[in-house]
Amino acid sequence: MTADPIAIARDLLRCRSVTPDEGGALSYLQAVLAKAGFAVHRMTFAEPGSIPIENLYARIGDAGPNLVFAGHTDVVPPGDEAAWRHPPFAGEVAGDVLYGRGAVDMKGGIACFVAAALDYLAANGGKPKRGSLSLLITGDEESVAVNGTIKLLQWAAERGEKFDHCILGEPSNVEVPGDTIKAGRRGSLNGTLIVKGRAGHVAYPDRADNPIRGLIKLMAALQVPLDEGSANFDPSNLEFTSVDVGNPTVNVIPGEARARFNIRFNDHHSQTALRMLIERRAEAAAAGRVHYAFDWPPSNADVFLTKPGPFTDLASAAIAEVTGRKPKLSTTGGTSDARFIKDYCPVLEFGLVGRTMHQVDERAPVADLVMLTKIYRRIIEKYFD
Ligand SMILES: [Zn+2]
Repeated sequence: MTADPIAIARDLLRCRSVTPDEGGALSYLQAVLAKAGFAVHRMTFAEPGSIPIENLYARIGDAGPNLVFAGHTDVVPPGDEAAWRHPPFAGEVAGDVLYGRGAVDMKGGIACFVAAALDYLAANGGKPKRGSLSLLITGDEESVAVNGTIKLLQWAAERGEKFDHCILGEPSNVEVPGDTIKAGRRGSLNGTLIVKGRAGHVAYPDRADNPIRGLIKLMAALQVPLDEGSANFDPSNLEFTSVDVGNPTVNVIPGEARARFNIRFNDHHSQTALRMLIERRAEAAAAGRVHYAFDWPPSNADVFLTKPGPFTDLASAAIAEVTGRKPKLSTTGGTSDARFIKDYCPVLEFGLVGRTMHQVDERAPVADLVMLTKIYRRIIEKYFD
């Protein structure tokens, strides 16, 4: 390899890029990519009520097909830094393991695809054999994700950029490198159920209407399974995350009770259909005797699936060649920026092993980083052949 993924990863880990801070991570990538001949664009996106965030798009080549590697340089906070065996922003390697916040989620993954791209270009006279190679890097993934990939994609589309296929380097593997490609994600929908009653003295319940009774009844009705799963997805799930009455007194029946919930849903549902299903179930359970309402904040996390085909086959073959393993195509886990990218081109998620992401002592074995770089290198080679 002409480019060293470990050196790049260590440099990136030393940037304190906790969302929304850029921390020098994008400037570092800009310098590395510009030196290799990429046209690099830096954009800051903002909107009222949110913090402006820096982003980066880099491309080498003018023609199609355009293969895009996507990722985020922002990281979650380190928590108690003293609890770390190695400081979270030092990029230390100990016992052939790289430590640091973002080692797997996902500066490690970015370092691997940058190294793979540089190595491929060096072996091919500085340009892809045909088509273009691009990088789409945001600083706004771990937080609200409103000034990141979603706007970066809009910006790119407006200036006529066309994406053909995308690999998002999020940590996708469960146990070992090469065991899992994420080829889709469940959707995510938040809601709040609000039950209205009539407040009163706890000793005279007949003169009040306790909303907690109604809330319990409706909550039970909403916990009936939503489906049995589909060909590519686990069953959808509604999970209550908070029950709130906020009553500071012991002798007053409250006037209102609320329950918040999140639904992770599969391809049996759209957001609209799911909301209707939940409201129908509540209506039946309420039987006209419970007064309630739902609050549905907007969600930008729809379910999606990248269907098995030539692109998944190409990635699976490259992974098998390097690791000897045939990856599973999975749709489990939380949402990612793939939910935005899927509107522009087919997207797969493949990166490091996710086990220590967001934890104290987040870390990646050096051997995994080397292996992932070889896999990305092989994917690029096969793609442009
Ligand atoms: Zn991530």
